[in-house]
Amino acid sequence: MIIDILSLFPDYFKGPFDVSMVKRAKEAGLIDIRQIDIRDFSANKHRRVDERPYGGGPGMVLCPEPVAKAIRSVKTERSHVVYLSPQGPVLNAKKCEELSKKEHLILLCGHYEGIDERVIAREVDEEISIGDYVLTSGCAPAIVLVDAVIRFIPGVIGHPDAVQEDSFQNEGLFDGPHFTGEVDFEGALVPQVLREGNHAKIRQYRLEEAIKKTRRVRPELVEKIEKEKQREPLTNHRGS
Ligand code: SAM
Repeated sequence: MIIDILSLFPDYFKGPFDVSMVKRAKEAGLIDIRQIDIRDFSANKHRRVDERPYGGGPGMVLCPEPVAKAIRSVKTERSHVVYLSPQGPVLNAKKCEELSKKEHLILLCGHYEGIDERVIAREVDEEISIGDYVLTSGCAPAIVLVDAVIRFIPGVIGHPDAVQEDSFQNEGLFDGPHFTGEVDFEGALVPQVLREGNHAKIRQYRLEEAIKKTRRVRPELVEKIEKEKQREPLTNHRGS
């Protein structure tokens, strides 16, 4: 997968994409992340790309010409253009999995008050938000999206089952609890069932704990599963 990130601060991405899994995925040739500086497409001798908004109001807005030129410099018929924006639907695991199948992602980061609406209408395939709050730019959201999407590319995560057992994959529930190291940590013991080696019981225990915590913290997720499948309430003793 090729990922082109269009922003005003290409240096912003130096740390996060040069460590850990993202670094390994790049080295393995599974992804290629390229930085594009929107200022390189400014016609202004001072490389300005923003102006005051029509109709007044606070702040500056990114002009359509340099943003459109930056997108068109890399866009092909195989590209999928995402504008990171608080006004899009909130990113979730299903969307990440869907995006992981794209050949070429173009991630457009907004700055200041945002981007001229006309370029969004013409060049952007979808807007995606990372949550109901406003950040200063689309750079951090682009990092979040890249990290969450590439985990679904085969080979990026060492163990192929790991991603499918994570939170939101297993029917939309949280992952179960994890324990390692000493059996007794300051008086808190690793649950007996995890030490007995009965895999059916271990699966059941993890599922029960996942249902319990999901229901406690995010009851709407459990309600959604029950509604979609039109089935009885998920119990903590399902299948036992
Ligand atoms: N005036 C805009 C609004 O209220 O909808 C907010 C602009 S924000 C200060 C600047 C840029 O940060 C946006 O253009 C967008 O690219 C990015 N951004 C801010 N919050 C975001 C979020 N929750 N998800 C994704 N991108 C976000």
